[in-house]
Amino acid sequence: MTNTTQPGRAARRSARPGRRALILASAALITVAGTSIPAAAFAADGDLSTNGGAQRNSGDKTADLRASIVDGPAKNVILLIGDGMGDSEITIARNYAYGAAGELPGIDALPLTGQYTTYSLYKDGENKGKPDYVPDSAATGSAWATGTKTYDNAISVDIDGTPQQTLIEIAKANGLKTGNVSTAEIQDATPAVQAAHVAARSCYGPDSATCGADALEAGGLGSISEQILDTRADLTLGGGSASFTQTAKAGQWSGETLFAQAEDRGYQLVGDAAGLASLTAADQSEPVLGTFTPGNFPTRFAATTATVGGADEAPVTCQPNPDRLDTGLSLASLTNKAIDLLDTGDDKGFFLQVEGASIDKQDHAANTCGQIGETIDLDEAVQAALEFARADGNTMVIVTADHAHTSQIVDSTPPATLSTALTTADGTTMKVAYGTAAAGGSQQHTGSQLRIAGYGPGAAQVVGLTDQSDNFFTIANALQLDRNTAALSSGATATVSAGTVEPGASVTVTGFGFNGDRQLDATEAADSAAATALGSKDVITGGAAYELTAPEELGTQTVTLTGRQSGKTVQVQYTVAEAGTPTSTPSPSASAPAGVGTGDGSGSGTSSGGSGASALGATGAIVAPIAALSALLLAAGALLVLQRRRRHA
Ligand SMILES: [Zn+2]
Repeated sequence: MTNTTQPGRAARRSARPGRRALILASAALITVAGTSIPAAAFAADGDLSTNGGAQRNSGDKTADLRASIVDGPAKNVILLIGDGMGDSEITIARNYAYGAAGELPGIDALPLTGQYTTYSLYKDGENKGKPDYVPDSAATGSAWATGTKTYDNAISVDIDGTPQQTLIEIAKANGLKTGNVSTAEIQDATPAVQAAHVAARSCYGPDSATCGADALEAGGLGSISEQILDTRADLTLGGGSASFTQTAKAGQWSGETLFAQAEDRGYQLVGDAAGLASLTAADQSEPVLGTFTPGNFPTRFAATTATVGGADEAPVTCQPNPDRLDTGLSLASLTNKAIDLLDTGDDKGFFLQVEGASIDKQDHAANTCGQIGETIDLDEAVQAALEFARADGNTMVIVTADHAHTSQIVDSTPPATLSTALTTADGTTMKVAYGTAAAGGSQQHTGSQLRIAGYGPGAAQVVGLTDQSDNFFTIANALQLDRNTAALSSGATATVSAGTVEPGASVTVTGFGFNGDRQLDATEAADSAAATALGSKDVITGGAAYELTAPEELGTQTVTLTGRQSGKTVQVQYTVAEAGTPTSTPSPSASAPAGVGTGDGSGSGTSSGGSGASALGATGAIVAPIAALSALLLAAGALLVLQRRRRHA
């Protein structure tokens, strides 16, 4: 760099605000007017042909770059994924909407960028464990969701089929709030990798033929939709309502639709913009399941069809899709609402994944305007995330993609493959070609490395060349997550509401401290009889309560609570005695923590008097600590209620 370039830079710097205003105005045009984007209305200003005229840097950026490297930890992480958004797709959208010298106001604004590799692995045969150079969204999503590379088609299981813990599962176990947002069916691979573990990505619901050993009736963890309910993120928003209308074939909710099951388990179900707007909370007592379309969201722009020789025809401008959803359901709106609901001001923070899904889907369909509109949609969601992160100061934002894709900007119309010509914001023609499938076929993913960009505490990890699986560790480390979630349940305990009861009396058994678990399973056994199953309960705030009826037979009953994910087992006993036998005195201090539901979905705290005398924890003497723990949890519960009231106010 020589001093002779300085005057030019200064001039550009002063010209910059005007250019930004122009870009913003053009963005507003795209968003608000909902009409086709006029060509040449907002091409880059200035003469690109002058020396330095196309430069993007304005002045020396060393200081800015230094300032953008911020030590972790971060309190919150927002991960935004453009499905199939390779460098080519980003460039096509930028050229079209902002001009070749313009910038995408969200995606291009992140200060720290790197590249990452995305290959998947072969699961069997002589190449088992070796790279498969062109991955799918299942393998790639699993890589950043779990840190484990796997095979195409796998949803957060390794190449041997073993489930790998996901960021949402781990963040939740660590007490963070969690959210999962997509414009696809929420069972689609990218959102599914955070909430489910199946061998085949198309195992959407109980009716899916591909579930195999993962089906509940086969003794598996269930379909992706059923596992979404089990994982119980605080907030899940997307398409894919159709799978939730299917009926469970086995398990506790056998014979019920998944929507009915969700309601049973305390979910707030919403299906339109008004419903979404009305939500004031999303938490473990009342998690949100918003499904706004039966399948994928309709795209922002109407489809264009690439044909052989198509780029020789008159260039097109993109038209709005009349079927696009209410703008209250755009990806940016969903992102803003998700942030509002997850940012409750508590200390632990949140992890949110947001996917713009149909860049990929429209690239498969050789639909240039479709993929451009979805890229712009994602860009607006990135802007929303950045706006929050800048104000918050403690949030890392990462923007990346899962795999590269077909579309290419070409110089001349390819003779044998599909292409389209568009008029860009520069007022010139851009030819886009799709060369990996014939007309009517599905264009293929490609194997190129991708851009990953970051902002905020910990984001320096994205710089340089990393692998997609690094992203898991970047996020887990920034949030300081304890990945040994089984250990998070090691201090689990339980209480019983009374040590001695009459036959037929009600008894409440409450488990506490199962923080590393999402469900509890329970059994009850008389002295020497075989145990009977009491069913499973969702773990809420580390606990769950079982309402039992004491049997008619006299003697000792042993209730065993087992954390489904940790395997942690806790036992309590109570005695059934003849009527007239003095029952033990309930202690008012030993109540279930607020938010420990009885599984009816109410999420209400269960008041259970605890008896010191007979509440024996098999794992040791636990009664005294429980009283203290209960008091603490009660206080925390009261605080939560207060906060909730404040939010409602
Ligand atoms: Zn795809």
